[in-house]
Amino acid sequence: PLILGLESSCDETAAALVRGDRTILSHKLAGQEAHHAPFGGVVPEIAARAHVEVLGPLVEAALADAGVTLAGVDAIAATAGPGLIGGVMVGLVTGKALALSAGKPLIAVNHLEGHALSPRLADPDLQFPYLLLLVSGGHCQLLLVEGVGAYRRLATTIDDAAGEAFDKTAKLLGLGFPGGPAVERAAADGDPRAVPLPRPLVGSGEPHFSFAGLKSAVLRARDAGIHATPDIAASFQQAVVDCLVDRTRRALGRIAPPTALVVAGGVAANRAVRGALEQVAAEHGLRFVAPPLWLCTDNAAMIAWAGAERLEAGLTDPLDVPARARWPLDPEGERVRGAGV
Ligand code: ATP
Ligand code: MG
Ligand code: FE
Repeated sequence: PLILGLESSCDETAAALVRGDRTILSHKLAGQEAHHAPFGGVVPEIAARAHVEVLGPLVEAALADAGVTLAGVDAIAATAGPGLIGGVMVGLVTGKALALSAGKPLIAVNHLEGHALSPRLADPDLQFPYLLLLVSGGHCQLLLVEGVGAYRRLATTIDDAAGEAFDKTAKLLGLGFPGGPAVERAAADGDPRAVPLPRPLVGSGEPHFSFAGLKSAVLRARDAGIHATPDIAASFQQAVVDCLVDRTRRALGRIAPPTALVVAGGVAANRAVRGALEQVAAEHGLRFVAPPLWLCTDNAAMIAWAGAERLEAGLTDPLDVPARARWPLDPEGERVRGAGV
């Protein structure tokens, strides 16, 4: 089947056409960095308005690039949450309108499921169950991915997400927005051992994450004025890597061997993070799978692919499916309204 995917949950507007055999016919993306940069972060109202302006043309461009019309598409997959609600509504209602007008099934995709299944789009050999480190702007979780729609959460962050820590650190160090790539660039010229920073929760029994203390330590290091910015950035990045590695090892010690260790989400674009996790996988004799960088950050190909997987499982949605600002992937998160869910 051929799936049209739509993404608009944060500050990327995107449309893509992906086939069930993993062929990406086209993918179009419009970032909003210039809109939000003056504010040092994503402004929800501005984001929603920008999605309204560009999503239609992006869908047209994606169809034209793929050389198909809406009639040739088998289903429409749109992100229905979690995310900034105004943006989510733009993408979901666009998906509903296209599905209704073309008489095609609608698939309401959880954005996190898009990230979680994206490694299977990149790697046809990746089988369930795999251990997924989902590290993004809003989430930091270890999930056992047992199948489509079957996610067991082993750990989450008790305060900030990993990407949020990168973004806040970038802001504190004056490196600009978006923060993750800026910190990675600055870190390339720094010494990761220069600044002693904490490794919150490292060694603790539950494989949870915490990054708020690290961010405060970065603030203190900056204000002390002893270290150069690249050294602080490199030391921060190393501390995050050490936390991710320790927590992933802890989770691996608690489960039967999965088929692979997988990393996804925007922070998975970080080369130090990828390299360190690849080593953890090697230590455990596991395959390591990380999607290409462009598929790690928000995009519509991963939404189309999650749609393809759901369609194959017979999972489509009615036209009254709601947009959800908050939407945990695992049943445990449905019950517990906790931090980082
Ligand atoms: P979520 O997926 O949790 O809803 P989101 O969609 O905003 O949140 P993503 O687009 O998946 O998140 O990821 C964006 C995050 O990834 C940002 O916090 C960004 O700083 C971070 N990020 C992107 N590239 C890098 C990088 N090279 N190094 C570190 N962090 C990065
Ligand atoms: Mg973004
Ligand atoms: Fe995301």
